[in-house]
Amino acid sequence: MQLPFAESYKIKMVETIRKSRREEREKWISAAGYNLFNLKSEQVFIDLLTDSGTGAMSDRQWSEMMLGDESYAGASSFYKLKNAIKDITGFEYFLPTHQGRAAENVLFSVLIKEGDLIPGNAHFDTTKGHIEYRKAFAVDCTIDEAYDTTIEHPYKGNVDVEKLEKVLRENPPSRIPMILITLTCNTSGGQPVSMENLKQVRSLADKYGIRVFFDSARFAENAYFIKTREEGYRNKTIREIVHEMFSLADGMTMSSKKDAIVNMGGFIGLRDEETFRKASVFNILFEGYITYGGMAGRDMNALAQGLYEGTEYDYLETRVKQVEYLGNRLIEFGIPIQRPVGGHAVFVDAGRFLTGVPREEFVAQTLAVQLYLEGGVRGVEIGALLADRDPVTRRNRFPKLELLRLTIPRRVYTNNHMDYVAVSLANVFERRTHITRGMRLIKEAPIMRHFTVELMPA
Ligand SMILES: *Cc1c(COP(=O)(O)O)cnc(C)c1O
Repeated sequence: MQLPFAESYKIKMVETIRKSRREEREKWISAAGYNLFNLKSEQVFIDLLTDSGTGAMSDRQWSEMMLGDESYAGASSFYKLKNAIKDITGFEYFLPTHQGRAAENVLFSVLIKEGDLIPGNAHFDTTKGHIEYRKAFAVDCTIDEAYDTTIEHPYKGNVDVEKLEKVLRENPPSRIPMILITLTCNTSGGQPVSMENLKQVRSLADKYGIRVFFDSARFAENAYFIKTREEGYRNKTIREIVHEMFSLADGMTMSSKKDAIVNMGGFIGLRDEETFRKASVFNILFEGYITYGGMAGRDMNALAQGLYEGTEYDYLETRVKQVEYLGNRLIEFGIPIQRPVGGHAVFVDAGRFLTGVPREEFVAQTLAVQLYLEGGVRGVEIGALLADRDPVTRRNRFPKLELLRLTIPRRVYTNNHMDYVAVSLANVFERRTHITRGMRLIKEAPIMRHFTVELMPA
């Protein structure tokens, strides 16, 4: 018999989680303004809100914490991290930041000005926030297939090179400070970008004299998909693939809370010294001195170790297979999800799940609330709430997809938890035709409203 798949680690420490009763959850979600971000974590049984900073560090990472050098300048932890980043990404220059959006803030302070265009595949929400805050525009050039959840396409994170070239052709290079590629593409469902596509983007960028940056939070999961799906990469190691990917970029921003499996941290990687020097000024201003940039020495140590663990094939296989396991359970129940299943999350197609709820009533948010009520499972809306209002017209933007993201923390839950989640959602699916009303807004912030919004049943 072929041996079955099993996790590439065992558990050394556990944390108790508690189930709750439906009546308790009804009270809690109402008090939270029907915003799952407002729940206390103890009111949640299985927390699939995000994979950001929620992973379980390894015994080796915890050992590294004890070796942290907390010197203000020139700490050994800084050099340990610098070497790890150079080793894994190839970038000569790096700046630590307290998390990914801080890296965006520092880098964009140097490169982006009012009226600029930043084309790429679908930009992440904080990235878009930092672009629009500077009165610049994020231009989504993702392939159309990404927005049809029923199409099986191996690289739904890919950039449509014709859309991209149109932007580059019709605008002066002075208005396009960079092309920004998100790996994997969170917004389209944790979907990978192929190496071939990265190469096409690079050659277009060269043709028009534009720089390419990677928003790299899930670069290792992207590399796993290249290895397992793309012709010519099966026999390459993850680290070889990662090197090749980054060789196509001028720089990167990183949220280390994802593929580097730490609870907090980020960085910028750069090839050219001039940008590094300019960015250093903003790093000191916003984050901290350039050899710690908002991170404790112990955290830089754990991050350096996490970069190595996060780029091991066995770990990545365990990781992606668990996400796929949940996806397959949902498919068995007939629940519509983004196909194929992405790297860090299962994206439930709420628009096709709750066909009776009008899109003005926040379909995916409605489904997220229903799933919480059913089983105490917390997912997150990727739909009209997240899409926010148009910065110019202030009208609600309705994205192509209303998605409920079930995001799996790294090395945290077992497949029994995945079964529990699947059955909870299947129970909602069974009564879906009775759900015909959604949510309406009662309070919202001027930007990135989804974090703090308050709603009530329509
Ligand atoms: C999480 C994330 C960010 C922002 O990083 P934080 O660490 O949350 O500030 C940026 N881009 C992508 C693709 C991300 O997933």
